[in-house]
Amino acid sequence: MTKQKVSFFWFRRDLRLEDNTGLFHALQSDFPVIPLFIFDDEILENLPKNDARVQFILESLQKINEQLKAIDSSILIKKGTTSKVWESLTTEFDIQHVFFNKDYEPFTIKRDAAIEQLLAQHHITASSFKDHVIFEEKEITKADGLPYTVYTPYKNKWLEKYHLSGQAPEFDTKIGYENFSKNQFAFPELAEIGFEKSVIKVLPPDLSQISNYKETRDFPAEDSTSYLSPHLRFGTVSIRKLVNWANRKNQTFLSELIWREFFIQILFSFPNVVNHNFKSAYDGIQWRNNEEDFKRWCSGTTGYPMVDAGMRQLNETGYMHNRVRMVVASFLCKHLLINWQWGEAYFAEKLLDFELASNVGNWQWAAGTGCDAAPYFRVFNPEIQQKKFDEKGIYIRKWIPEFDLGYNEPMVDHAFARDRAIETYKKGILK
Ligand code: FAD
Repeated sequence: MTKQKVSFFWFRRDLRLEDNTGLFHALQSDFPVIPLFIFDDEILENLPKNDARVQFILESLQKINEQLKAIDSSILIKKGTTSKVWESLTTEFDIQHVFFNKDYEPFTIKRDAAIEQLLAQHHITASSFKDHVIFEEKEITKADGLPYTVYTPYKNKWLEKYHLSGQAPEFDTKIGYENFSKNQFAFPELAEIGFEKSVIKVLPPDLSQISNYKETRDFPAEDSTSYLSPHLRFGTVSIRKLVNWANRKNQTFLSELIWREFFIQILFSFPNVVNHNFKSAYDGIQWRNNEEDFKRWCSGTTGYPMVDAGMRQLNETGYMHNRVRMVVASFLCKHLLINWQWGEAYFAEKLLDFELASNVGNWQWAAGTGCDAAPYFRVFNPEIQQKKFDEKGIYIRKWIPEFDLGYNEPMVDHAFARDRAIETYKKGILK
């Protein structure tokens, strides 16, 4: 039997049909396009069986599949080691061309290079595209071509370049819809992927309160941020549409989206930030790394209401407000003197919006070890943070129902912990 001549579009962190760069180009190719998603065993094996993110991915793929069904097409879902899946696809189909969008994480860059090599051995062309960011790799650099390591000049250059190009181009994929293959593939249940339903759900994005974003974004009880982060992580919204919208509506909000790109370019330019301090002078810090203390932080039982409320929100919902993330991260690194990597790993396991670049970047910022980081001697006082940002205690009461019954004593005195942190940092920072 002759094999079907096809192109593939490989979905990864771009789970939408609309305004999808790689998909747009795939649909212009000369062969019917099979949309594909691979549940990668190497990633899945490290996740708990009720991981809400896997469920969200499958739900997002289901939505794509419904849109495809309406035009007589469907998505092919595979599970396995990515290279083995591609190897078997090359025997099943006469693949002419594979299209996908770029991912800038070190693990993925390595994996994608291996897949491109595998495809090349089968004489298959692979084309990858920028889709996840407005500016990638070395598009925003200092005059000497080196990457920015400070946010504000990066942002200024980013804005200058964005305004020069008018706005981010959006890709109308609909014009190529007739080029989707008419193959009808079965859509799997969550259990077939080896996962169970989770009680935790990704909330839909909410841009309704963005007009007051500048005034309200720091107050967790206002609950006025966009909840876009998991959608940006998995690409269920287009960053181009969002940035063009933000540019018209709200510059403070746009600045936050630029923070995301700043950390993505830091990770791309300095991939070892995943496991190392960005500032190597901080390598000498003697972390206490006390396991019992870490458990109290994880379970939200430190006795500091703002810290505990945040950790409980994270444990119960997979989300935590940004202001509170800053407070809990500072508390772990400075009050408890636990290496930021422990906190980063815990967030990575729990956050629905976990994104390596933003997580590592923000954790290193909080620990003082990162680029453009909080100075080491700035130690947030969790009680003052609570007074400033949750004056009426609405947020803390929401997550700590027993609060008014007489709350636990703080596990460590603030003034003592602050002095200890500053001393330890001072001693550890290499001159
Ligand atoms: P909004 O305030 O509505 O912001 C809109 C978007 O801007 C966000 O979705 C996000 O894409 C971007 N953004 C906002 N603040 C930041 C920031 N400080 N850094 C980078 N991008 C930002 N964000 C993640 O997406 N994934 C993470 O793994 C992550 N880990 C973090 C760890 C720590 C210790 C801290 C302090 C922050 C972390 N953040 C992370 C950044 C920020 O807290 C979340 O992006 C934000 O809370 C998500 O909620 P939202 O979409 O409602 O935010």
